[in-house]
Amino acid sequence: MSMVERPFLVPGMSNDARIRVYRRVFAPEEDQQEKMEVDSYVVVTTRYVVVLDTLLCPEDMAAIMNEMRKEIIGRELLVVNSHADWDHCWGNNYFTGNRKATILAHDYCVTRMQSDEAKAGLQEYQNKYSYFQNVTLISPTITFSDRLTIHGGDLTIELFSAPGHHPDHIAAWIPEIHLLLAFDGAEKPLPLIGDVDGIQPMYNTLQRFIALHPQRVLCAHGKTTDITIVMQNLHYMREIEQRSRALLTTHRPTDSELEHAATLIHYSFNDVVETQSDITDADREFYTWAHENNVAYILRWLMHKQD
Ligand SMILES: [Zn+2]
Repeated sequence: MSMVERPFLVPGMSNDARIRVYRRVFAPEEDQQEKMEVDSYVVVTTRYVVVLDTLLCPEDMAAIMNEMRKEIIGRELLVVNSHADWDHCWGNNYFTGNRKATILAHDYCVTRMQSDEAKAGLQEYQNKYSYFQNVTLISPTITFSDRLTIHGGDLTIELFSAPGHHPDHIAAWIPEIHLLLAFDGAEKPLPLIGDVDGIQPMYNTLQRFIALHPQRVLCAHGKTTDITIVMQNLHYMREIEQRSRALLTTHRPTDSELEHAATLIHYSFNDVVETQSDITDADREFYTWAHENNVAYILRWLMHKQD
C-alpha cells in the first residue's frame, strides 16, 4: 500500500487569507485508474470556523483541524456537506463524540446518506482499501431545502440548493468577496449530471451561478478558479442538446444505441476537450464515461419531452 495521503493546503486557489483550500489526492497504488482529487474549504470568519466538505475519512479532518488549532479559539465550529457523495462527507465522523459539531446540509442529503446504496458503497470501499476503516456514515444535524445563511460577522456564507449533479447538492456564495463555492455544480473538464431528472436542474444551477457574477469560482474537482468553467459547462450541455435535437428529427435511438450516445451525435470526448491538454489517463477514462452518460441522459430527456 502506498503512503497514506493527507489533505494539503493549496495557497494559489484563494486570494483571501480567510478562505483556505485543502486538496486530498486519492491514488491507491493497487488501482491507479481510481486516482482522483477533491477539494474542501475552511472559511474563517470572526464568529465561526466553517469547514465545507469533510473529504474521505476522519483522518483527513484530523489533519485539517490540527492546522486550525489557533483559529478555532474563540470561534464556533460549523461543518457543511455539499452533498452525500463519499468524497465529500466520509470525514463527518471526525465531528462526533467530544469533537461534536453541527453539520449543515440539504434535507435530501440525510436520505441519501442513510440509504442502502450509501451503506453498500462504504462496505465496498472498506473491503477494497485500507483507508476507510475508520469511516462511519454520519448524517447532517441541521438541514434545509432552499437556502440557509451563516452570518459569520465579517463574511456571510449563503448556502443554497444547486441540484443537477444530485438532488441534494448545494453551493455556497460569499457575497462580500464575490466568491462562489460551486462544489460539483460545475466541473472541469465537464459536469457530472446525476440522471435524466438532473438535466433541467443542472441548466438552472449553472445559470444561477452565472447570474451571481462571481469573481472567483472554486470547484471540488478541477483546480480552477475561473468563472469560465461555468460558462463552458453550460455551453457543453447546450452543444449536446443541439446535436441531440438534430438527431431526433430523423431518428429515435434504441436503448442499445444509447449505450454509445456520444457516437450517435458525433460528439466524442476528444471533441469536448480538444483545447485542454492537461488531462491524465485516469481522468480521460472517467470523463469519457461521464460524457457518455450525459449525452444519453440529454437524449432521453428530449425523447421524454417528445412523448
Ligand atoms: Zn465529487
